[in-house]
Amino acid sequence: FNNELQRSEKMDMISELAASVAHEVRNPLQVTRGFLQLTQMNTDDKGREHLRMALEELDRAANIITDFLTFAKPQFEKTETLNLYEEFQHIENIMRPLASLQGSVLQIQVPQHLQIRGNSSKFKQACINIIKNSIEAVHKEGYVRVWTIEHENHIELHIKDNGSGMTEEELARLGEPYFSNKTKGTGLGLMVTFRIIEAMDGSLEFCSKKGEGTEAILTFPIAARS
Ligand code: ADP
Ligand code: MG
Repeated sequence: FNNELQRSEKMDMISELAASVAHEVRNPLQVTRGFLQLTQMNTDDKGREHLRMALEELDRAANIITDFLTFAKPQFEKTETLNLYEEFQHIENIMRPLASLQGSVLQIQVPQHLQIRGNSSKFKQACINIIKNSIEAVHKEGYVRVWTIEHENHIELHIKDNGSGMTEEELARLGEPYFSNKTKGTGLGLMVTFRIIEAMDGSLEFCSKKGEGTEAILTFPIAARS
């Protein structure tokens, strides 16, 4: 029992430390980013190419920190009642430009009256990580569709794409830290997403077929209908 207590105290300390390190490192990264961008304006083509690569690496570091910051401090986040429709308005605003850039269509159909319990920024992060993967998986004529199915006590949230799909082996590894098939992937997105959904008493399942597409099914207890 004593050992268990010490172990959980240690975990708390590590979580807090990770969160504050992530926070402290983010600021200098932002400042460096600004100076690199300024320098980009008065240099030759070769210099600009080097600076472009430096900025890319900087963004990569920032992305990893973002994933870990979310992961590092779940216990300090406040839980509230979330209106699904409002959350998806934000999510749509953030994701639509990315979808257009990839030439795919993002279709979100969420009713206005459903409420679930959770932390707004965490919930958005979880959904964005899934939608972003879908957008990255589709090519021409691609779509990403989001819709809900309402049950008595819970809702299903479906996120479906007609992208590259996955093999059984890939499916089995989803959520494993650092599992990524992308040259610039972190392999942290779905790990974070699974953690968030679990903390909301929800669940996440994926169905996928190589060459056809992928469907993520999230379930959450319904907190209220309004
Ligand atoms: P990352 O996106 O940084 O690679 P993730 O944890 O978000 O890390 O995803 C892990 C891997 O799962 C991806 O690299 C990809 O191979 C696979 N994956 C996830 N979602 C999809 C999807 N909708 N379609 C195809 N593959 C996917
Ligand atoms: Mg991802």
